[in-house]
Amino acid sequence: MARDGAVNPDLRTRDDGAESRSRKSSDVMTERVTMTPEQRPALEILAVSKEYPGGVRALDRVHLTVETGEFVAVVGASGCGKSTLIRLVAGLEVPTSGSIRALGLSPEQIRVQRGFGVVFQDPALFPWRTVRQNILLPAELARDRSTASRVDEWIGRVGLTGFENALPAQLSGGMRSRVAIARALVSRPPFLMMDEPFGALDELTRGAMQQELLGVWSAYGPTTLFITHSVAEALFLSDRVVVMSPRPGRVASVEDVPFPRPRDLHLRHSSAFTQLEERLLNLLGG
Ligand code: ADP
Ligand code: MG
Repeated sequence: MARDGAVNPDLRTRDDGAESRSRKSSDVMTERVTMTPEQRPALEILAVSKEYPGGVRALDRVHLTVETGEFVAVVGASGCGKSTLIRLVAGLEVPTSGSIRALGLSPEQIRVQRGFGVVFQDPALFPWRTVRQNILLPAELARDRSTASRVDEWIGRVGLTGFENALPAQLSGGMRSRVAIARALVSRPPFLMMDEPFGALDELTRGAMQQELLGVWSAYGPTTLFITHSVAEALFLSDRVVVMSPRPGRVASVEDVPFPRPRDLHLRHSSAFTQLEERLLNLLGG
């Protein structure tokens, strides 16, 4: 018996693969799939193009793979398709051609299972709900008790202890961003999607928020796609920077960011940082 098994290792491997594939697809149909973070790469964007009705070609054959737990920033001029890319990955729109796989599933499947935490430029809080109620809302809708029990922990993590019962109108811009970040992360989704989340903040607050984001991100290290038009922000936060060219949006270059973690804001004044920043600015301008 043992020898038989050893004689046919290829066959056994193929069978195992077929079995796990069929198991996965039946689980998806019943929405019981287990998202295994060990699978690599976590995110595959393969030759993705997006044309809007009316003929605007926002993205042209974008190709990008992101490893589990990696923090990838995407920079590019306004209108180059950054928001389109994040909406496609988050399953909020579908590509015209090409494919996107997240942990081997479609973005739609991951979205339905609440596998994406999404933070948009506008924190989009409900004005009549308190800080705690805003953070709790997605878990409430999903009747997810275990997430609800972690809300106060996340309020503390994003520095809002004491403001649990404040309304959005009583908060500063930075505090509203913190609420949006806590709301995205409290259910510990395997993916974090952020679309220029600090774009509306002043420089000082923005720097502080970047530092804080790295702190909360490292709490469990979700696979992250972070959209920005700031090269310095992209470099400070990420493991790799994707530089996009405009109209239609294409990947012009992908740069490794070599700076060790944890990072603090002094990094920005180092010559290694400013040299890389200059290089990326040239790529963007060229
Ligand atoms: P970015 O986020 O980099 O500024 P967007 O992804 O928002 O870029 O937009 C890329 C291009 O697609 C722009 O030319 C924009 O006008 C166009 N676009 C974005 N959304 C839509 C839409 N819903 N319908 C038609 N055109 C759109
Ligand atoms: Mg945008």
